[in-house]
Parts: sequence; structure tokens; C-alpha cells
Amino acid sequence: MLDLVIKGATVIDGSGTEGVVLDVGIEGDRIVAIAPSIEAESAETFNASGLVLSPGFIDVHSHDDFHVLIEPEVRHNILQGITTAIVGNCGFGAAGSDAGKVQMKAINEPTAELPDWDGYAEYLEEVDKASPILNVAALIGHHTARRQAMGGVENRPPTDTELAEMLASVEEGMEAGAVGMSTGLVYEPGRYASTEEVVALANVVGKHGGLYVSHMRDEAVGLLDSVKETLHIGEASGCAVEVSHHKAVGRTNWGKVAQSLEMIEDAVAQGHDVTADQYPYTARSTMLFALVQNGTFSAGEGGAMGKSEPSEVLLCSVPGFGDFEGRSLQSFVEEFDLPGEEAANKLLSDYSNEILVAAFGMDEGDVRMVMAHSSTMIGTDGLDRGSKPHPRAWGTYPRVLGKYVREEGVISLENAIYKMTGMPAAKFGIANRGLIKEGNFADLVLFDPETVIDGATYENSRVAPVGIPHVIVNGQFAVRDGQHAGSRSGRALRRGI
Ligand SMILES: [Zn+2]
Repeated sequence: MLDLVIKGATVIDGSGTEGVVLDVGIEGDRIVAIAPSIEAESAETFNASGLVLSPGFIDVHSHDDFHVLIEPEVRHNILQGITTAIVGNCGFGAAGSDAGKVQMKAINEPTAELPDWDGYAEYLEEVDKASPILNVAALIGHHTARRQAMGGVENRPPTDTELAEMLASVEEGMEAGAVGMSTGLVYEPGRYASTEEVVALANVVGKHGGLYVSHMRDEAVGLLDSVKETLHIGEASGCAVEVSHHKAVGRTNWGKVAQSLEMIEDAVAQGHDVTADQYPYTARSTMLFALVQNGTFSAGEGGAMGKSEPSEVLLCSVPGFGDFEGRSLQSFVEEFDLPGEEAANKLLSDYSNEILVAAFGMDEGDVRMVMAHSSTMIGTDGLDRGSKPHPRAWGTYPRVLGKYVREEGVISLENAIYKMTGMPAAKFGIANRGLIKEGNFADLVLFDPETVIDGATYENSRVAPVGIPHVIVNGQFAVRDGQHAGSRSGRALRRGI
């Protein structure tokens, strides 16, 4: 007997092909039948006519490494249909936990109850113990490995002993089932690493068939040089490459994505596996400290993170000073009577050095061009911290489906689903997921293509979307009628398993 039959939904299977009205039967955690009509006996029959049934969304750009352990219901993820989160992006990795907790402090605050773990094998065991609502796969984070081996943030090359320790931690992570390694070459301490250091570590990743994922060294004036460096690291190490949050930041750099996309196309034409991810917004979100350090508010064109005016910067999270959240940097420029960079520095030194901001700086035309490109998949880059997080943490997937598919026709519905499911599963080695196929795990989303839309805005960002009533993880309803259904059936996913 089947456990569940979903009847009459338009099944968009995640491969990019057109939707078909079908019944889908589930037994245990697997999809076991797909047919125009399933008559077999089932514990539950669920009428889903008028809705689209797609594979659960795979968020390739998650920063919820600790969140999945601390708040395993991960509301901002599950309510938008995410059934697998790939954590450890931009170089911020979970293991070892001593270095990880310091490294991650500003973006994903560790709590006192958070356990310790030595490496990725133990981190993934903790994920299984926490039994989160969604599946979790991990990238090894370069910052964390470097911080751990070198004893802090060091602006110098590693010694031979330190490099050996970093290599060993990458080896441990890959053996434990991490899907690859990420870097964040604008942030400390990754920004102090040479290309050669990254290649040395990526060699270990490549040997295990993992990915090299990068928040590149420069997404502004130096965007194209950074793409070149990233492609070189992939080629030299034999790793498939994922460019994180593909974009060109700062007005004077708008339009450069046409060339960066072309560079990816050329690499693909030469046989290299190169893709990218994107969140569908024109503001980035990051640490205020990092923007200052990268020259965002200095004179001239700005540095590696591009330029933003103080009026374009909104404070998302200011630990200890919640009433600052939602205010613009410009309001502090006026209050302190200081120029932008000095006002930012005063906030960091007098109030909190863990401030997260949303900073406008990208072009809407670029967002569309990147989204429409065959190399691009979707990821949230969500940082659900503070009272006014960047809305991408809550709205990425419904925003693509509502605004960019239905309202603007930038991509087709089938292509959007592919970029959220089949494409990331294939790229990140997430086995038996990402496609609605007999034998695959039953990670599924039911949504209404006529109404689906994000609810999160910059002013009011911790808001669930509309039109995503049901989410199933490993055969269990995680969300039913828009509410948590009580199950926590997610698992740690290990590469290829
Ligand atoms: Zn990043």
C-alpha cells in the first residue's frame, strides 16, 4: 500500500521539460509511481489539481550552517519550498567548530548550546542528530580551514606546517562527504590567500570529484580578472566550478556581466564544467565591516565589493541595538555629522562590529541577463539575522517564480524549476533528488503558479511567501496549508549518496 498519492497536479519534473498533469505515488521516503492515474490503495490521497508539483528547491547558496542546528524548523527556508540547503558558502565553513564559530559570528550567530565538532564528519552527524526540517549538504569553508590552521586572521602565506594542516582538513571534509570547497576572497582571512594556496587546496577537492565554489576576489572593477582567476583554479585543480552570486557591483561596472557570462560560455565550450548562482535582487547583503575594508565608501570607484552611497545601505542586523535595524547609513551620516566611511566606522567601533547590511549596487537589467543565462541556477545567500534581514532569506524562490517568471517572462516556468532543482542536484552531486522520478526521494513542493510571490520586503523582511501551500521532505509533509506540519524529516546529505 502507498503512503500518499498526490492527484491531478501539473508535474514539472525538474529536467526542464514541460509540465504534465499526473498522479504521483509515495511510499516511505521515495517516489514509487508516476502515472496519468494511480488507483492503487493509499493511506492518503491528496487532491492537488490547479497546483504545480515540482521537486523541492535546492538552495545552493545557504549560510545556515548553525541555524539548521539551533532552529531546526528553518522557517525562512522551508516556507519558500527549500528542501535541501547547501551550507558553507563564501568560505564560511562549519568545521572545525572553534574556528567556525568565530568566523561565522556576524552572519550566523552561534549560541552557547551549540555543540562542538572537529571536522565535517562530526558536523554532519550533528545535523542528523538535530533532525532539521530540510536536508543539509556542506561545502568546506576556506576561511575556517585557514583560520584554524594559522591560529587567526593572518595576512601572510601559510607556513608548510600550516598548509599541511589546511590540506588535511580539506581531505577530512571531502572524505566525510562534503560536496566541495568554497572561498570568499574579499573576506578575512581568505582575502590574504594567493591563487596558488587556493589551487593547492582545490587539488584535494578535485581528486575527490568535488566542486570549487567561489565568492570571487572582486565583483566590481576587477570582475573579469576574478572570473579568470576562478576558471584558472578550476582548470588547475580539476574541479568543476560554481561562481557564487554572479553579478557586477557598482554603477560604473553595470553591464560587465555580458562579458563575464561570455567567459563562462567560452570555458564551457572548451569542455569545462562552469556554472553560477544568483539571488534575484539588486541589493547585496554582507557585513558592514567588509564593505568598509573593501573601500565601498572611499573616494573613487570603490574596491572589490563595488560602490554604494550611504543612502543605499540599510542596516539589517545590529546586535544589541535593534532599534538601529532598518535605518540607512545615511541617517547615521546625518546624526553623527560624519562622512559615510567614518560614520560606518563609528557604528562598528562604538556599537557592534557584527553589523549586517543590505546595500543596493546592482542593475536590474544585469539581474535579468544573468538569470536568463543557461549557466545560472538559483540560491538565496540568505542571512536571517536581526529584525530586518535582506528579503532574499525569505523570498528568493517565490520571487523568481512570481516576478521573473509570471509577471515579466524573463524565464519560463519549466526553466526556472530546472534552475532550482535538477540543475543544482546534478552540479552539486545531490544524488536521487532534484527530479520527480520513480525511485528518487520524495522532496516535493506544491505551489500555485497564478499566485506565488514573495512577501518579504526590505522594510518588512521576515514574511512568508504566498502561493506555496505544501512542502514535502523525504515523503513527509513539512509544510501543509502554509503551516509547519510538525515533521522534521531532513537529513545530512553526503556527496553522491
Ligand atoms: Zn558571498
